[in-house]
This record gives sequence, structure tokens and C-alpha cells, in this order.
Amino acid sequence: MQAAADRSPTEAETRPEVVAFVALGANLGDATQTLQTALAALAAVPGVRVRKTSSLYRTAPIESSGPDYLNAVADITTTLTAPALLDALQTLEQAAGRERPYRNAPRTLDLDLLLYGDSRIQSLTLTVPHPRMWERAFVLVPLHEIAPGRVSREALDAVAGQPIAPCQPQRG
Ligand code: ATP
Ligand code: CA
Ligand code: CA
Repeated sequence: MQAAADRSPTEAETRPEVVAFVALGANLGDATQTLQTALAALAAVPGVRVRKTSSLYRTAPIESSGPDYLNAVADITTTLTAPALLDALQTLEQAAGRERPYRNAPRTLDLDLLLYGDSRIQSLTLTVPHPRMWERAFVLVPLHEIAPGRVSREALDAVAGQPIAPCQPQRG
């Protein structure tokens, strides 16, 4: 591989950093291990820096079936465009053996792009902010833990009826 000084910067390296939030979920296999591996893999994606991750939370499946979910949210900065970041997330899902037999099926790994700076994006393959994030305690509670300014008290109250339990102490 060429040394960084010997080559022109790639597009990812020349774009400004954007703060983004990624939701992680898993309810098949060893979900704890899957999420930890996914966080490490996310941090290893060129153009992505993981700044903070929430605790892991346990929730019962909603509009779905199978074992309980483990969920978390990561605060990242990225020089990738939002579509390129979604591609990277989907590559990590595939690496974890994600299959989509039907909508809301149990899954080894789900990575959703919640927020990408202040961008509002609506395309066939990507909607940001994530259109269902405000309905979901398993998204809002971990997001509030690491970025309290992004989730209002009213938004938390709106999902307060959905049981959710932290399953390990907060990590840096
Ligand atoms: P939900 O989107 O309700 O959480 P899901 O995560 O189970 O459901 P998937 O099957 O993982 O849905 O994704 C379906 C499609 O959603 C993806 O192929 C992707 O193109 C699209 N999508 C649109 N907006 C986003 C986003 N913000 N983050 C991730 N995927 C998105
Ligand atoms: Ca999802
Ligand atoms: Ca998804």
C-alpha cells in the first residue's frame, strides 16, 4: 500500500467530517458478540470514527418475533456521504449473515442510519432522519444516553410505555 503522503487523497479523506448516529440491533445468535463485533467493524471502516457508544439495551420484539433484541446507538463522525455510509452499514450487515426473508424478520444484525448531520434525505434507498426513529424506545433511549440534546423529554415520554432495560454499564 502507498504511504499517505505519496498519493492523492481519496474523496472520503477530503470531505468534511459529519456527525452521524447509527442504531444497532440484533436478536439472533450471540447478539452481544455481534454488536461488539459490529462496533469494532464500524470503527474500522475508512472514513468513519466511532466517538461514543451507548450501553446495550434489551427489548422485546415489536411487530416482530423471536428472541429479545439487543440494541445500541453509536455516535460517529464520517467523511463518507450518507449513501456511501449506508453501503458500508449494509456490507457489515451482510458480513454478520443478515437475511431478509420478510419484513421485520428476526435478524443477526440491523444497522440503521438515524441522523446524518442536519441533513434531510429522501431517496428510494435512504431516508434520513430515519422515519420511524421517533416511535421507538429502543432507538431513543440509547440515543438520549449518548446525545441528550438530540432527544427531547417529550420524545422520550412518547415511548415511555415500551419496556427497555440496560444490560451493561455505559462504555466510553
Ligand atoms: P426499519 O427501517 O423500520 O427499521 P428494517 O431495519 O428491518 O426496518 P431493513 O430491511 O433493514 O429494514 O431495510 C430496508 C431498506 O431500508 C434498506 O434496504 C435501505 O435501503 C432502506 N433505508 C431507508 N432509509 C434508511 C436508513 N436511514 N437507514 C437504513 N436503511 C434505510
Ligand atoms: Ca431497523
Ligand atoms: Ca435496517
